Amino acid sequence: MEIIKTVRDMQNFSESLRLRGKRIAFVPTMGYFHNGHLELMKEGKKRSDCLVTSIYVNPTQFGPGEDLDKYPRDFERDERLSRDVGVDVIFYPPNSQMYPENYQTYVNVENVTDNLCGLTRPVHFRGVATVCAKLFNIVKPHVTIFGRKDFQQLVVIKRMVTDLNMDIEVVGMPTVRESDGLAMSSRNAYLKEDERESALSLSRSLRLAGSLYDQGQCDAGVIIKKVKDFIGKHPGTRIDYVKICDVETMKDVERLERKSVLALAVWVGAPRLIDNYVFGENK
Ligand code: AMP
Repeated sequence: MEIIKTVRDMQNFSESLRLRGKRIAFVPTMGYFHNGHLELMKEGKKRSDCLVTSIYVNPTQFGPGEDLDKYPRDFERDERLSRDVGVDVIFYPPNSQMYPENYQTYVNVENVTDNLCGLTRPVHFRGVATVCAKLFNIVKPHVTIFGRKDFQQLVVIKRMVTDLNMDIEVVGMPTVRESDGLAMSSRNAYLKEDERESALSLSRSLRLAGSLYDQGQCDAGVIIKKVKDFIGKHPGTRIDYVKICDVETMKDVERLERKSVLALAVWVGAPRLIDNYVFGENK
């Protein structure tokens, strides 16, 4: 396994693979790996001759007062886990490589960023789209793998890839959960012991919503209220949003007629956790 820290070395490495007709899979991450990340890597491994992952805590996707400085990091552990799963290259650039002095270009994906995390974290998706566009130009993958845990992010990346004619296949993978249902997240590391129980209210509320839907409830407002009431009963929770949206446009829906996703973001103590459920799906 190689660790590459400069844009030039990464581009040269990928170019030489492409010249030899090799297929490159790419999993972008912010590190502090858990099984969610590792599942994306295993999928990338199956789909390619060379698996590249990046570890980069991207400052432009964090707003003022968010957890950029506190974001958990452990490169040595990530390196070990990457090796175990068969990663060929870790791209691990410093900020000076990604945003050198005089940097001034950003990618702005429009309508699908108007809701959910785009509403409550105004600079977030501009940062995500920008860093992913840059990473795609640096790693030059044929296929890239994202998690559906960050549902809106996946929609944004697919939109960008289509709109900017990037010749990359974008694959979405199911959310990996702890045995009790909590969606795996690097930010779970911030949860204090008593908060862990409250954090379960997210996945449990999704299950509650799923069973209401399965019993015939199609009124989004009714489901949202029940979910909010359920989460609100748990100590230490503070809801950022609970919404039901069309899976393509990310616009709120009133009735669950087309394919819809229940998306939520909730602070549990310090960390802000997200989770989602697509109605009619098992997971
Ligand atoms: P992050 O390091 O949090 O930026 O995540 C890197 C990638 O891993 C993104 O595509 C996420 O959607 C994905 N990911 C994060 N958590 C999970 C999870 N629990 N299950 C599946 N994929 C995940």
